[in-house]
Amino acid sequence: MMNTTALIIANDKTKKTQLINHLSATGLFKQIKPLGSSAALFQHLKSKRTDMVCWAVERKNRKANWISKLHSDEQWHDLPLIAFAEDQQGLINGFNLGASDSVHVEIDSTELSARMNRHLERWQRLLELRQSKEQLQKMALTDPLTKLGNRATFDMSIKQAAACTQRSGSPYSLLMIDLDHFKNFNDNYGHQTGDTVLRSVADAIRYSARDADICCRYGGEEFAVILPDTKANNAEVLAERIHKQVAKVSRKQTSGRMPITVSIGISCANRNDVHPTQLIEEADQALYLAKDNGRNRTETWQPDYVSPGVQFSYNSSPQLAFGTY
Ligand code: GH3
Ligand code: MG
Ligand code: MG
Repeated sequence: MMNTTALIIANDKTKKTQLINHLSATGLFKQIKPLGSSAALFQHLKSKRTDMVCWAVERKNRKANWISKLHSDEQWHDLPLIAFAEDQQGLINGFNLGASDSVHVEIDSTELSARMNRHLERWQRLLELRQSKEQLQKMALTDPLTKLGNRATFDMSIKQAAACTQRSGSPYSLLMIDLDHFKNFNDNYGHQTGDTVLRSVADAIRYSARDADICCRYGGEEFAVILPDTKANNAEVLAERIHKQVAKVSRKQTSGRMPITVSIGISCANRNDVHPTQLIEEADQALYLAKDNGRNRTETWQPDYVSPGVQFSYNSSPQLAFGTY
């Protein structure tokens, strides 16, 4: 097997050499690495490939903290762990301490190969399953067209951001972004070109956002950015960057065609009104206003404008009104 690596833990030199010889004779390992201590084991696990740990168990060995630590870590819980014992009590200790297998130090080399091969195959299969599970999880959370987070990511992330605000008291913000006159664009240039534009706008959003911001495709030609731990004025800075970046894309991609622009609605929540449903509703209302006010611009929802009998009201942000670029 390629690059298969076994680590060896043994207190004395003779036992270490004995285990190295045993493992070499199986021909199953590209690397066999004796370790000085269990601390060195965790150091190795952090950065390098490990397929098996072989350890010289002793008669008096009734406790092994490093095994408990391995078993409590989901990533290493099932790593093959082979105890090499000198007598029956040692073999039993190996199993009791949590070894995947316990063998006598004088085990026949063909039998040892067969046993180890079985453990390695199982481990390899587990790694493959783990990898495909991660891939599936990623796919379930990613929008295939734009590679941004999908609606499920949005729903999950906005709840997390709300919970975070509730704990810390520091506000979080939301941007709802909708392409302007996109139906016309599709009607004039076809859906394929429309899809390319959606991808470019998604790239522009991703490019404009900071690492902590969560960019998602909310649905159709609508995008959303969740900004944890961010006040409205900083959300407006991001909105401005997005308008500029979309304008750049538009200049590059649509020479002679309809320009691509977006309208953006912003809402911000503090500790007292964190509920995501409300925040989405407010950002949507601000977005409608941006459309009403001529598109290619941003509006921010303002709570202090709410007066009795008026459910939603807005602050038009003239400094964020975008003309032509
Ligand atoms: P407004 O400025 O008011 O937002 O106008 P609009 O034309 O963008 O709004 P409307 O909601 O009427 O149209 C949205 C369009 O987005 C309709 C649909 O054809 C297009 N659309 C939605 N999802 C996709 C997609 O995945 N690919 C493409 N190419 N078009 C899409
Ligand atoms: Mg829309
Ligand atoms: Mg639209």
